[in-house]
Amino acid sequence: MTATATRVLVLNSGSSSVKYQLLDMNPDSGGGPAAGTRLAVGLVERIGEETSRLAHTPLATGGDKRETEGPIADHEAALKAVAAELSADGLGLDSPQLAAIGHRVVHGGLKFTAPTVIDDAVLQEIERLVPVAPLHNPANITGIRTAQALRPDLPQVAVFDTAFHTTMPEYAARYAIDVATADAHRIRRYGFHGTSHAYVSRKTAELLGKDPSEVNVIVLHLGNGASASAVAGGRCVDTSMGLTPLEGLVMGTRSGDIDPAVTFHLKRVAGMSEDDVDVLLNKKSGLVGLCGDNDMREIRRRIDEGDERARLAFDIYIHRLKKYIGAYTAVLGRVDAVAFTAGVGENAAPVRAAALAGLEEMGLAVDADLNAVRSGEPRLISPEYARVAAAVVPTDEELEIAQQTYALVSA
Ligand code: AMP
Repeated sequence: MTATATRVLVLNSGSSSVKYQLLDMNPDSGGGPAAGTRLAVGLVERIGEETSRLAHTPLATGGDKRETEGPIADHEAALKAVAAELSADGLGLDSPQLAAIGHRVVHGGLKFTAPTVIDDAVLQEIERLVPVAPLHNPANITGIRTAQALRPDLPQVAVFDTAFHTTMPEYAARYAIDVATADAHRIRRYGFHGTSHAYVSRKTAELLGKDPSEVNVIVLHLGNGASASAVAGGRCVDTSMGLTPLEGLVMGTRSGDIDPAVTFHLKRVAGMSEDDVDVLLNKKSGLVGLCGDNDMREIRRRIDEGDERARLAFDIYIHRLKKYIGAYTAVLGRVDAVAFTAGVGENAAPVRAAALAGLEEMGLAVDADLNAVRSGEPRLISPEYARVAAAVVPTDEELEIAQQTYALVSA
């Protein structure tokens, strides 16, 4: 890495999409961009289809969003198209200012507890975890290989969704099933969204004017996927997702917690196959299964029109959320803050109000005026008298990945 190399490209490779952001991490660039400034952001969607789409916004030049449609065959073609867009703005992957590429990797198992520079052994280990993350890790591996081929000399760093949760005590991480079977198949609770939980719990401490080591926070990451975590003094002690992202809260399309016997029943009685059940619980359940919509805006609109199905879906969503807030209050013993984040958590004031309603005995309350404020900044929504702070803390997984990547390669 050269002294001037301060940029990090963050890649989030999904099975048919690549999201990317180029950030400048230079903390003292003498009048230049502040650390974490976005130079470009974009998304390639529907890779492998005729109707692939690339949307690129060159923030550094203040240029307009550019959109191109047309077939992009695979991840290699997608990354090449991204590289061409970046080059057009003088931000190409061949720039000496590029310090590293940071990759979001969903499953790091137990081995990866921190961001890691990728070499062959690391890549093999990520591959070994494919059986526990069949939907996500293969796409992440493809993204890494493609980026390596484009810039073989550049450090590539893996930042794992599971890493923040590796501090969970064994009694929180183990399922109460036969130990030998569990160990043979690496069945345990890993948790996901860790990059977001790490970032938001730290930002919440900052909002309270405290060091992360001094505060206990319940983080509610409520997006289309949703998870809760209990963070004690900056360390995760429990989280709601498990072996896969299916466990825990009611999500946009996932059921969250369910009696596993439901799956036997669906196979034995309803004649469904393994794949049918997988699709049902991951894609056709949660809010969409309950009321046909997974967008909280639409659900609120329907509720306002008196729609009973939307109302019940909302109530089930909130009931589960409340149970986790109660459970994690018990796990933590003392809670300093409950932080709402991600698409629903940051934007849906009625969800925040309903989730904390009736929890005054637990020190929780929401100030209606503060809760109604719309802002991209971390903010308190609890009245001053509340013993436990309630906060909205926008997440920024890309910034967290860039910071962790840059810290590793510039150390
Ligand atoms: P995420 O996965 O974090 O991008 O969150 C996406 C979800 O956030 C959407 O499916 C919506 O349910 C929700 N969302 C986004 N904007 C709003 C809004 N203004 N009000 C309510 N919910 C929203």
